[in-house]
Amino acid sequence: MRHRRETGYALEADFSQPCERFQLSWRTCCCPSQALTDCWAVDSLLQHVIEDGQDDTEPRDDRVTTEIVLMSDPKVAAVSVQECGERLVDVRRDSLLLVDERKWQDSAGAFAHLREGVLDRLLKAQAQLPQGMRLLFVEGYRPPSLQCRYFDEYAARLRADHPEWAAEHVRAAASRYVSPPEIAPHSAGAAVDVTLADDGGRELDMGTRMNATPEESAGACYMQADNISDKARSHRGILSTALTTAGLVNYPTEWWHWSYGDRYWALQTGAAVALYGPGELD
Ligand SMILES: [Zn+2]
Repeated sequence: MRHRRETGYALEADFSQPCERFQLSWRTCCCPSQALTDCWAVDSLLQHVIEDGQDDTEPRDDRVTTEIVLMSDPKVAAVSVQECGERLVDVRRDSLLLVDERKWQDSAGAFAHLREGVLDRLLKAQAQLPQGMRLLFVEGYRPPSLQCRYFDEYAARLRADHPEWAAEHVRAAASRYVSPPEIAPHSAGAAVDVTLADDGGRELDMGTRMNATPEESAGACYMQADNISDKARSHRGILSTALTTAGLVNYPTEWWHWSYGDRYWALQTGAAVALYGPGELD
Protein backbone atom coordinates (compact mmCIF):
# COMPACT_ATOMS: atom_id res chain seq x y z
CA MET A 1 0.00 0.00 0.00
CA ARG A 2 1.42 3.31 -1.03
CA HIS A 3 0.97 6.11 1.49
CA ARG A 4 -0.13 8.52 -1.10
CA ARG A 5 -2.93 6.22 -2.14
CA GLU A 6 -4.58 5.22 1.07
CA THR A 7 -6.94 8.13 1.12
CA GLY A 8 -8.00 7.83 -2.51
CA TYR A 9 -9.99 4.97 -3.93
CA ALA A 10 -7.84 2.37 -2.24
CA LEU A 11 -9.01 1.97 1.31
CA GLU A 12 -7.80 -1.57 1.81
CA ALA A 13 -4.69 -0.68 3.79
CA ASP A 14 -4.14 -2.72 6.91
CA PHE A 15 -4.52 0.05 9.42
CA SER A 16 -3.88 -2.32 12.33
CA GLN A 17 -0.20 -2.53 11.31
CA PRO A 18 2.34 0.30 11.38
CA CYS A 19 2.70 1.93 7.98
CA GLU A 20 5.65 0.29 6.29
CA ARG A 21 7.53 3.36 5.25
CA PHE A 22 7.64 5.43 8.38
CA GLN A 23 7.06 2.64 10.88
CA LEU A 24 4.60 4.80 12.73
CA SER A 25 1.01 4.05 13.46
CA TRP A 26 -1.32 5.19 10.70
CA ARG A 27 -2.91 7.52 13.19
CA THR A 28 0.24 9.56 13.61
CA CYS A 29 1.59 8.99 10.16
CA CYS A 30 -0.66 8.90 7.15
CA CYS A 31 -4.20 8.41 8.19
CA PRO A 32 -6.76 11.14 8.63
CA SER A 33 -6.74 11.88 12.32
CA GLN A 34 -7.03 14.66 14.77
CA ALA A 35 -3.31 14.35 15.44
CA LEU A 36 -2.65 15.12 11.82
CA THR A 37 -1.90 18.79 12.02
CA ASP A 38 0.85 18.24 14.56
CA CYS A 39 2.23 15.27 12.70
CA TRP A 40 2.35 16.91 9.32
CA ALA A 41 3.90 20.08 10.61
CA VAL A 42 7.09 18.04 10.61
CA ASP A 43 8.76 19.06 7.38
CA SER A 44 10.85 15.94 7.00
CA LEU A 45 7.78 13.74 6.97
CA LEU A 46 6.12 15.98 4.48
CA GLN A 47 9.16 15.75 2.26
CA HIS A 48 8.93 11.97 2.33
CA VAL A 49 5.41 12.12 1.05
CA ILE A 50 6.42 14.39 -1.79
CA GLU A 51 9.19 11.98 -2.72
CA ASP A 52 6.85 9.06 -2.40
CA GLY A 53 4.51 10.68 -4.89
CA GLN A 54 7.33 11.20 -7.37
CA ASP A 55 8.63 7.65 -7.50
CA ASP A 56 5.35 6.28 -8.77
CA THR A 57 5.67 4.14 -11.87
CA GLU A 58 2.45 5.44 -13.38
CA PRO A 59 2.64 8.32 -15.86
CA ARG A 60 2.20 11.58 -13.95
CA ASP A 61 -0.37 13.05 -16.33
CA ASP A 62 -2.60 10.05 -15.96
CA ARG A 63 -2.38 10.23 -12.20
CA VAL A 64 -3.35 13.88 -12.11
CA THR A 65 -6.58 13.26 -13.98
CA THR A 66 -7.67 10.11 -12.17
CA GLU A 67 -6.67 10.60 -8.56
CA ILE A 68 -9.13 12.17 -6.19
CA VAL A 69 -7.58 13.93 -3.23
CA LEU A 70 -9.84 13.36 -0.25
CA MET A 71 -10.37 16.02 2.38
CA SER A 72 -8.73 13.63 4.88
CA ASP A 73 -5.53 13.43 2.82
CA PRO A 74 -2.50 14.59 4.83
CA LYS A 75 -1.65 16.94 1.97
CA VAL A 76 -4.75 18.99 2.76
CA ALA A 77 -3.97 19.38 6.46
CA ALA A 78 -0.36 20.20 5.56
CA VAL A 79 -1.42 23.41 3.80
CA SER A 80 -0.90 26.32 6.14
CA VAL A 81 -3.54 28.97 6.69
CA GLN A 82 -2.71 32.65 6.64
CA GLU A 83 -6.03 33.93 7.93
CA CYS A 84 -6.86 37.14 6.10
CA GLY A 85 -9.60 38.15 8.54
CA GLU A 86 -12.23 38.74 5.90
CA ARG A 87 -15.70 38.86 7.41
CA LEU A 88 -18.55 36.44 7.01
CA VAL A 89 -21.52 38.02 5.26
CA ASP A 90 -25.14 36.96 4.93
CA VAL A 91 -25.76 35.82 1.37
CA ARG A 92 -29.42 36.87 1.70
CA ARG A 93 -28.49 40.54 2.11
CA ASP A 94 -29.02 41.67 -1.48
CA SER A 95 -31.45 38.96 -2.57
CA LEU A 96 -29.23 38.24 -5.55
CA LEU A 97 -29.05 34.52 -4.84
CA LEU A 98 -31.85 32.03 -4.48
CA VAL A 99 -31.45 30.64 -0.96
CA ASP A 100 -32.92 27.30 0.03
CA GLU A 101 -33.69 27.12 3.75
CA ARG A 102 -33.50 23.38 4.30
CA LYS A 103 -30.31 23.80 6.35
CA TRP A 104 -31.59 26.60 8.56
CA GLN A 105 -31.04 25.41 12.13
CA ASP A 106 -30.30 28.42 14.31
CA SER A 107 -31.51 31.93 15.00
CA ALA A 108 -28.44 33.49 13.39
CA GLY A 109 -29.00 31.65 10.10
CA ALA A 110 -25.37 30.55 10.17
CA PHE A 111 -25.90 28.36 7.10
CA ALA A 112 -26.49 31.47 4.96
CA HIS A 113 -23.09 33.04 5.65
CA LEU A 114 -19.95 32.99 3.54
CA ARG A 115 -16.71 34.90 3.39
CA GLU A 116 -17.28 37.99 1.33
CA GLY A 117 -14.81 36.92 -1.36
CA VAL A 118 -16.61 33.61 -1.79
CA LEU A 119 -19.98 35.33 -2.19
CA ASP A 120 -18.52 37.73 -4.76
CA ARG A 121 -17.31 34.78 -6.79
CA LEU A 122 -20.64 33.00 -6.57
CA LEU A 123 -22.38 36.05 -7.97
CA LYS A 124 -19.84 36.20 -10.79
CA ALA A 125 -20.53 32.55 -11.54
CA GLN A 126 -24.27 33.13 -11.57
CA ALA A 127 -23.87 35.94 -14.07
CA GLN A 128 -22.28 33.49 -16.49
CA LEU A 129 -25.11 30.96 -16.46
CA PRO A 130 -27.31 30.49 -19.52
CA GLN A 131 -30.55 32.45 -19.51
CA GLY A 132 -33.23 30.84 -17.38
CA MET A 133 -30.80 29.27 -14.94
CA ARG A 134 -29.78 30.48 -11.49
CA LEU A 135 -27.66 29.22 -8.67
CA LEU A 136 -29.56 27.79 -5.73
CA PHE A 137 -27.57 28.29 -2.52
CA VAL A 138 -28.17 25.56 0.08
CA GLU A 139 -25.42 25.75 2.71
CA GLY A 140 -22.37 27.87 3.40
CA TYR A 141 -20.89 28.45 6.84
CA ARG A 142 -21.17 25.64 9.37
CA PRO A 143 -20.16 26.19 13.02
CA PRO A 144 -17.35 23.80 14.08
CA SER A 145 -19.65 22.10 16.60
CA LEU A 146 -22.17 21.26 13.88
CA GLN A 147 -19.41 19.96 11.61
CA CYS A 148 -18.30 17.62 14.41
CA ARG A 149 -21.83 16.36 14.79
CA TYR A 150 -22.23 15.66 11.04
CA PHE A 151 -18.92 13.81 10.94
CA ASP A 152 -19.59 11.74 14.04
CA GLU A 153 -23.08 10.78 12.90
CA TYR A 154 -21.90 9.59 9.51
CA ALA A 155 -18.92 7.73 11.01
CA ALA A 156 -21.29 6.00 13.45
CA ARG A 157 -23.46 4.84 10.55
CA LEU A 158 -20.44 3.42 8.71
CA ARG A 159 -19.22 1.73 11.88
CA ALA A 160 -22.61 0.09 12.36
CA ASP A 161 -22.65 -1.13 8.76
CA HIS A 162 -19.02 -2.34 8.88
CA PRO A 163 -18.20 -3.48 12.41
CA GLU A 164 -15.02 -5.15 11.12
CA TRP A 165 -13.44 -1.85 10.03
CA ALA A 166 -10.63 -0.36 12.11
CA ALA A 167 -11.22 3.14 13.49
CA GLU A 168 -8.83 4.70 10.98
CA HIS A 169 -10.61 3.02 8.10
CA VAL A 170 -13.97 4.34 9.32
CA ARG A 171 -12.50 7.81 9.53
CA ALA A 172 -11.02 7.70 6.04
CA ALA A 173 -14.26 6.40 4.56
CA ALA A 174 -16.34 8.99 6.40
CA SER A 175 -14.10 11.69 4.96
CA ARG A 176 -15.30 10.88 1.47
CA TYR A 177 -18.58 12.49 2.43
CA VAL A 178 -18.05 14.71 5.48
CA SER A 179 -14.91 16.72 6.03
CA PRO A 180 -12.95 16.05 9.23
CA PRO A 181 -13.88 18.90 11.59
CA GLU A 182 -10.37 20.29 12.00
CA ILE A 183 -9.97 21.12 8.32
CA ALA A 184 -13.59 21.62 7.28
CA PRO A 185 -13.96 24.26 4.57
CA HIS A 186 -17.57 24.95 5.61
CA SER A 187 -16.38 25.96 9.09
CA ALA A 188 -14.04 28.45 7.45
CA GLY A 189 -16.92 30.07 5.55
CA ALA A 190 -15.04 29.09 2.41
CA ALA A 191 -17.28 26.32 1.07
CA VAL A 192 -20.73 26.34 -0.41
CA ASP A 193 -23.17 23.61 -1.33
CA VAL A 194 -24.90 24.89 -4.42
CA THR A 195 -26.97 23.61 -7.32
CA LEU A 196 -28.82 24.91 -10.37
CA ALA A 197 -32.42 26.01 -10.51
CA ASP A 198 -34.71 27.42 -13.17
CA ASP A 199 -36.22 30.89 -13.02
CA GLY A 200 -39.00 29.61 -10.81
CA GLY A 201 -36.53 28.25 -8.25
CA ARG A 202 -37.11 24.62 -9.17
CA GLU A 203 -33.98 22.48 -8.85
CA LEU A 204 -32.61 21.05 -12.07
CA ASP A 205 -31.73 17.39 -12.51
CA MET A 206 -28.12 16.91 -11.42
CA GLY A 207 -28.16 13.12 -11.31
CA THR A 208 -28.57 12.73 -7.54
CA ARG A 209 -30.15 14.72 -4.79
CA MET A 210 -27.79 17.13 -3.08
CA ASN A 211 -25.96 15.45 -0.18
CA ALA A 212 -26.54 11.95 -1.55
CA THR A 213 -23.94 9.64 0.00
CA PRO A 214 -21.63 7.49 -2.14
CA GLU A 215 -23.40 4.43 -0.74
CA GLU A 216 -26.96 5.44 -1.56
CA SER A 217 -26.11 6.85 -5.00
CA ALA A 218 -23.73 4.07 -6.11
CA GLY A 219 -21.09 6.74 -6.52
CA ALA A 220 -23.27 8.99 -8.72
CA CYS A 221 -22.57 11.84 -6.29
CA TYR A 222 -19.01 11.95 -7.68
CA MET A 223 -18.75 14.84 -10.09
CA GLN A 224 -17.35 12.67 -12.87
CA ALA A 225 -19.73 9.74 -12.33
CA ASP A 226 -20.89 8.06 -15.53
CA ASN A 227 -24.05 6.50 -14.08
CA ILE A 228 -26.18 9.63 -14.60
CA SER A 229 -28.31 10.84 -17.53
CA ASP A 230 -26.99 13.01 -20.35
CA LYS A 231 -29.16 15.86 -19.13
CA ALA A 232 -27.76 15.65 -15.60
CA ARG A 233 -24.24 15.53 -17.00
CA SER A 234 -24.93 18.61 -19.05
CA HIS A 235 -26.23 20.45 -15.98
CA ARG A 236 -23.16 19.47 -14.00
CA GLY A 237 -21.01 20.79 -16.84
CA ILE A 238 -22.79 24.14 -16.78
CA LEU A 239 -22.47 24.44 -13.00
CA SER A 240 -18.85 23.40 -13.11
CA THR A 241 -17.84 25.79 -15.89
CA ALA A 242 -19.44 28.80 -14.20
CA LEU A 243 -17.97 28.11 -10.76
CA THR A 244 -14.53 27.12 -12.01
CA THR A 245 -14.30 30.23 -14.15
CA ALA A 246 -15.17 32.30 -11.09
CA GLY A 247 -12.24 30.72 -9.20
CA LEU A 248 -13.87 28.04 -7.06
CA VAL A 249 -12.78 24.41 -6.91
CA ASN A 250 -14.98 21.36 -6.61
CA TYR A 251 -14.64 18.51 -4.15
CA PRO A 252 -14.81 15.64 -6.65
CA THR A 253 -16.82 13.24 -4.50
CA GLU A 254 -19.68 15.76 -4.21
CA TRP A 255 -20.89 17.56 -7.34
CA TRP A 256 -22.52 20.28 -5.19
CA HIS A 257 -19.55 21.21 -2.95
CA TRP A 258 -17.38 24.14 -4.05
CA SER A 259 -14.88 26.30 -2.24
CA TYR A 260 -12.53 29.21 -2.48
CA GLY A 261 -9.70 30.25 -0.14
CA ASP A 262 -9.61 27.13 2.07
CA ARG A 263 -6.86 24.53 2.34
CA TYR A 264 -8.39 22.27 -0.27
CA TRP A 265 -8.61 25.15 -2.71
CA ALA A 266 -4.97 26.07 -2.02
CA LEU A 267 -3.83 22.52 -2.67
CA GLN A 268 -5.79 22.23 -5.90
CA THR A 269 -4.79 25.60 -7.30
CA GLY A 270 -1.18 25.66 -6.11
CA ALA A 271 -1.73 28.73 -3.93
CA ALA A 272 1.03 29.13 -1.33
CA VAL A 273 -1.36 29.31 1.63
CA ALA A 274 -5.04 29.11 2.44
CA LEU A 275 -6.73 32.45 3.11
CA TYR A 276 -9.52 31.30 5.39
CA GLY A 277 -9.35 29.08 8.48
CA PRO A 278 -12.16 27.75 10.68
CA GLY A 279 -13.81 30.21 13.03
CA GLU A 280 -16.97 31.18 14.89
CA LEU A 281 -19.72 33.41 13.61
CA ASP A 282 -19.74 36.68 15.57
ZN1 LIG B 1 -20.21 20.98 1.25
